[in-house]
Amino acid sequence: MSDCIFCRIAAGEIPARLAAEDPEFVAFRDLNPQAPVHVLLIPRRHVATVNDLAAADAPLLGRIWTRIPLLAAELGIADHGYRVVVNCLAPAGQSVFHLHFHLLGGRAMGWPPG
Ligand code: AMP
Repeated sequence: MSDCIFCRIAAGEIPARLAAEDPEFVAFRDLNPQAPVHVLLIPRRHVATVNDLAAADAPLLGRIWTRIPLLAAELGIADHGYRVVVNCLAPAGQSVFHLHFHLLGGRAMGWPPG
């Protein structure tokens, strides 16, 4: 989608500090980090929210979830603990409507999340 900022990052049209990429995913540093390590993992394919996922997306989601621990290891946070956050819709904190997984690490995390 041409008006989606994360689609444009995935296409290389907007600069981002890439952490990893492959034909299916892109990972890049969050512009406004909430932890010493804060990376966003996105599928290149535009999916607006968790609510837009369908059964056919199960393989994609499986690949995302198996990519996350590899990415955490590459970022040096796997052994110290990290949090994966997906906000769905604005009341839950979603501000960019392209599915993304926040990987947050490098500090202790509070619970419950705010
Ligand atoms: P959310 O609020 O869950 O939708 O998360 C969106 C995240 O995208 C926020 O943490 C923003 O700081 C981050 N963000 C927005 N624009 C950019 C950008 N151009 N490059 C990197 N991160 C961004």
